[in-house]
Amino acid sequence: MSIDSDQDEESLTHVGSAAPSSPSDEQEVEVADGIAEFVEGVLDEGEPKTWEELQALAEEGLKNARKRKSYRDEVVFASLVQLYRFAPRQGRLRGSLRVARNLGRGPAFARVLNAHARHFEAMGSLKPGQQGKRPSGSSGSGESALDDEAFSLGVKSFLRTLAPGTVTPTLLQHHVNEHLFPSLKLRKTSISKRQARRWLYRLGYRLKSHQKGVYWDGHERKDVRKHRQEFCDLLKSLEPYMAMYEGPEMKEVPPNLAEGEVEHVFIYQDESTFHDNDFQGQGYYLKHGEQVLKKKTRGRLMHRSGYICARYGNLALPPEMVEANARLPEGERLTKTDSGVTIFPSNKDGGDTYWNTQQMITQLRHAILIARRLFPNAVIHWVFDNSSCHDSRAPGALNAREMNVGPGGRVRHMHDTIIPLGNPHGHGGELQSMQFPAHIPDNHPYKKFEGKPKGMRIILEECGYIKPGTKLVGDCKLCKAKRARKPKLALSPEEMDLADCEDLVNDSEDESRPSDCCLLRILELQEDFQNELCLLQKVVEEAGNQCHFLPKFHPELNPIEYYWGWCKNYFRERSNGNFERGKRLLQEAVDMCPLITIRRFFRRASRYLSIYHLGATGVVAEFAAKRYRGHRGVMQKDIDQAQAEWEVKQTKLTVGQSLH
Ligand SMILES: [Zn+2]
Repeated sequence: MSIDSDQDEESLTHVGSAAPSSPSDEQEVEVADGIAEFVEGVLDEGEPKTWEELQALAEEGLKNARKRKSYRDEVVFASLVQLYRFAPRQGRLRGSLRVARNLGRGPAFARVLNAHARHFEAMGSLKPGQQGKRPSGSSGSGESALDDEAFSLGVKSFLRTLAPGTVTPTLLQHHVNEHLFPSLKLRKTSISKRQARRWLYRLGYRLKSHQKGVYWDGHERKDVRKHRQEFCDLLKSLEPYMAMYEGPEMKEVPPNLAEGEVEHVFIYQDESTFHDNDFQGQGYYLKHGEQVLKKKTRGRLMHRSGYICARYGNLALPPEMVEANARLPEGERLTKTDSGVTIFPSNKDGGDTYWNTQQMITQLRHAILIARRLFPNAVIHWVFDNSSCHDSRAPGALNAREMNVGPGGRVRHMHDTIIPLGNPHGHGGELQSMQFPAHIPDNHPYKKFEGKPKGMRIILEECGYIKPGTKLVGDCKLCKAKRARKPKLALSPEEMDLADCEDLVNDSEDESRPSDCCLLRILELQEDFQNELCLLQKVVEEAGNQCHFLPKFHPELNPIEYYWGWCKNYFRERSNGNFERGKRLLQEAVDMCPLITIRRFFRRASRYLSIYHLGATGVVAEFAAKRYRGHRGVMQKDIDQAQAEWEVKQTKLTVGQSLH
């Protein structure tokens, strides 16, 4: 980052010394540390690195503000554009004074502008207005106990006694309340934990969280790595056919296509949940509404499912195309021009039902039509989270779990199949029906099961895997235990959100079960059962598009994950717990994320892609991603260097530790 904010902090206090420290500073601190955990690492890619990039981003904001006729934002953005024009030569502080002068305003304006600038640089959005925000709790007079020389010294020397990483607001709070206040006989006698947090912030402490995409178990599992490699290789191989986004304004550079070649476009889907109480900073973000923690305090649930692409951001027709669409005859007109869907699920009357496959498919069908309109000639690739497929089998799909052991019963009918060619009992290539024929001769033992499902046992007999009378249970203890196993990994809530628990439960590399322990297992391992398309894939492929699933545990490869992070941040800064306001804010957040920022998210995901493509894994990959922040492509030599640097760093750490 090219901006030295500490220095500005110092000088600013002189400029604004006439005004007492405003509550908005307090709020800024509180908001900043409340969201730090989730947002850190997500936003730093959205965060512009140079004055030039900041100016481009502010210009885009200005354009949007004009479109929305938001006068307040327009003024702030216009000032920021000016500021970033002056800043390269004069610095942020003198730049803002100059902007103030140009506008006939004084130092107070410069100070406010500066605060806006700093927020804008950190968050990529404007500082929220005060309207509708709850009053900030305990900020009384502008005077802070920290301004007291002796007190401040006491706090600082206490913090120095704590080993790095062990500092917490609670520790500071207790020390202050039990030791410092009594000994210094100050007017104030106690502070809240929140106050302690603010002080830590003032003293330069930041709540650091794990970076997104850190190597939890599973990330480097053999099967996951294989899928990741395939996925990254495929995307890399298509890069020459894709538009790229470069420079401070992330301008589009179209692919250099030869005669007859077609552009390839990638669209990413994912879901996210918002709660109207998220501003309280105790948010645990979970996917799929049903797994809500701390239900009581989180407030109403809002569920958003969306698609993004690098050219347009949110997958929706731009205004001029919406108008053109409205003029089309009814048959050709799209009924939906924005692919995003927000629902407000609730068990109460009037609430929406929870997100399900049906809603997802309906949304996808609209999205496909919109995408075709936006990219009429391109090959369109749809990328889904790995877990999206779990419960979206097509009607009639083969699924051993839904089958009975014996014939009959009220079981879903499944389509016919061809016994896989690899069948070791000579049945490969035979047509096989999952149901008995509608008419069976009278003397046949299965007469009473006419048209009914055959059940696992008969299906497997037909394939030659078991003989009539073979003693084998339908579903054995091992398999049951396996499915019931809870994830043992200690994941943070964000990781749980990202890693989708289902994946953790359902498969793991240490496969100790035999492949023929029970009927269910034999059947599930059959190629035709394994290859059953999920409904998403079916719908996408029927539309002539291509469908991909992200490797498990790899949110860092999905640009929309970063986008949700941005939206959540925007939402949390402005939410006040009111449901109606929350509804509006969510839509606003989704619309407000600047296209430049979204393109940076794509660049970030693309950087991980290059890194994995080059074979870097785990820690080194993460290290390289940080090291080459802002680069789109990473070269082999970069990976080698990252590897080397990482090793040096490790050695230093080990040496450092052994000294203690
Ligand atoms: Zn089994």
